[in-house]
Amino acid sequence: EREETVSLQACTEYALRLFQSRLYDSRVRVEHAWPEHTIWAKADLVRLEQVVVNLISNALQAMKETAAPRLSISGEERGDRVTIRVADNGPGIPDAHLGRVFEPFFTTKAPGSGLGLGLSISSRIVDDLGGKLQVYNRPEGGACFTLTLARAAPPP
Ligand code: ADP
Ligand code: MG
Repeated sequence: EREETVSLQACTEYALRLFQSRLYDSRVRVEHAWPEHTIWAKADLVRLEQVVVNLISNALQAMKETAAPRLSISGEERGDRVTIRVADNGPGIPDAHLGRVFEPFFTTKAPGSGLGLGLSISSRIVDDLGGKLQVYNRPEGGACFTLTLARAAPPP
């Protein structure tokens, strides 16, 4: 693992940029909620971006039938931990699946369209970075993934 100081805002911007035309074509509203200042984390930019890409990709797939799809990306700092949240207003995750979505090969997608590896690889990456990837259903509907990492001092 490469340990560097990563801006969470920059990392999520890079990830979002890959979905620019898909977000536009599917009329997904993207909402951002970030503090004014940059949030710095100890991470590996490329690996962290890969995780955020997986979360956005899942959110977009989950919102395929959603009338007014909304993707919310936010970040916050709490003590020595920092958090990225990727939330959608899709159908959410059935309670019976909540404990299984991080298992390798767990998928509810049609054969050929999902291998069920995205979240298991993502949670492995986040573990390796010393962080944690968690999921819950939002009370207002949809799923929310929370990615917590160690905070870093701003780079010199
Ligand atoms: P895949 O996308 O190939 O199915 P993942 O590991 O990325 O594999 O996700 C596993 C499963 O978790 C998905 O098949 C889906 O059932 C569920 N899931 C993941 N993200 C979401 C989401 N944002 N909303 C609803 N269900 C989700
Ligand atoms: Mg996936």
